[in-house]
Amino acid sequence: MTGTSESPTIVWLRDDLRVADNPALLAAIDRGGPVVLLYLLDEASPGIRPLGAASRWWLHHSLAALGTDIAERGGALVLRRGGAETELPRLVDELGAGAVLWNRRYGGPQRRVDAALKSALREAGLEVRSFQSNLLVEPWTVTTGEGNPFRVFTPFWRACLAKGAPREPLEAPASIPGLAGVPGDELEHWALLPTSPDWAGGLREAWTPGEAGAHDRLEAFVTDGLENYAKGRDEPGTDSTSRLSPYLRFGEISPFQIWQRTQRGDLSPAAEGNVVKFLSEVGWREFNWNILFHFPDLHERNFRSEFDAFPWETPTPPVLEAWRHGRTGVPLVDAGMRELWQTGYMHNRVRMVVASFLVKNLLVDWRVGEKWFWDTLVDADEASNPGNWQWVAGSGADAAPYFRVFNPVLQADKFDSRGDYQRRYLPELDTDAYPDPIVDLKASRAEALRAYEYVRRGDHR
Ligand code: FAD
Repeated sequence: MTGTSESPTIVWLRDDLRVADNPALLAAIDRGGPVVLLYLLDEASPGIRPLGAASRWWLHHSLAALGTDIAERGGALVLRRGGAETELPRLVDELGAGAVLWNRRYGGPQRRVDAALKSALREAGLEVRSFQSNLLVEPWTVTTGEGNPFRVFTPFWRACLAKGAPREPLEAPASIPGLAGVPGDELEHWALLPTSPDWAGGLREAWTPGEAGAHDRLEAFVTDGLENYAKGRDEPGTDSTSRLSPYLRFGEISPFQIWQRTQRGDLSPAAEGNVVKFLSEVGWREFNWNILFHFPDLHERNFRSEFDAFPWETPTPPVLEAWRHGRTGVPLVDAGMRELWQTGYMHNRVRMVVASFLVKNLLVDWRVGEKWFWDTLVDADEASNPGNWQWVAGSGADAAPYFRVFNPVLQADKFDSRGDYQRRYLPELDTDAYPDPIVDLKASRAEALRAYEYVRRGDHR
């Protein structure tokens, strides 16, 4: 360690926009000297996927909330824009910083940037340290008996659980020793919010981004939703899931905090009975990150390469628009796509149905749908979005078999039998204004199965 303990420490925040359970922040405070918290809007580093529009909206509000939380503790959040490999060393020089600390991220291009910076800054004599905070189990620490990455969820999660309980979350620091006068951008100047038109009214109504909002959600879920989770999670009309996904995506809450909240011993017996199921869903997030770590171009490439030969159809613009904006004439699909458009979120069961409809009934390449979700979801996640799209398409790790085609009418009968969810988003459902289906469900299913047979038998070879 070369920096003196009085030299400033930079905490580089990325997907960890919180002050509690933030190991890099606590280590910076422990080091002594002033702490500068930096958020870089990096749209320049090669390969890093630019945020979609709904994620930009979320990021704006999340940073605003974080800035307040940090200021209340005496620190300051510095906003800069540009490629990390230029901007971070620039700030180090400006401040005469002695250390740079961050919590690790796991995407391929991000890891390249972080590794390059770690060695460059260390070579320049700085202390550089990284921490585990966004995943319960880091991908390189869990492998099959043969030492290979897991490709199937159940043994993966079993191996994760066998490692023992995750560490206890860390308390938020009571105060942060700041450094006054570090120049940075104004959040408003980043233009992350939509203006013309301002389409974010529904998002504002549905969400409170930020760390406090995350913990309110978790408490509400643990007291009201968890006891019916295993059954209710499939019923989009009942609001039985946690809705923590965007908070996890931006790191306003950590999986360690979620885990620990379910183990406190103050849950009702009914809630207790649902904890294992709930945590296994949190485990799917871990699984998708594990896959992404080993397969960094998951949003571009079929995990199972035999799908490279799949005869996708090029959708006509009206067909694609009908799907995007919920005008397919298939009520559960349309309700889901409207929920997404209005709120930046869609219920998991309905995500599976709309994805299956696009990929199987309309024979559209899963990447087309993945991109739309990437742009419109507030929880758009580099691992879970392509991971789940590939799961539905059949091309993914531990995927649903391609021949299992969801029937959106039967799905609606089973999981939204009273139609509450569908009516919430489709007020015109019971009127003449509601269109006929754009595709025959039975015929298109048969065609999808023929296309799959073609790939399966290897006719294309
Ligand atoms: P809960 O049921 O309360 O689950 C708790 C947490 O577990 C979630 O917040 C999430 O972090 C995790 N989780 C639950 N299910 C899954 C899953 N299948 N895969 C990975 N993690 C899961 N989830 C995202 O976070 N980001 C995405 O971009 C995303 N895209 C998806 C695309 C498709 C086509 C499908 C079918 C699913 C996608 N999911 C994605 C997974 C899932 O739909 C959401 O995580 C879930 O709906 C979020 O709601 P919740 O927080 O109330 O979930």
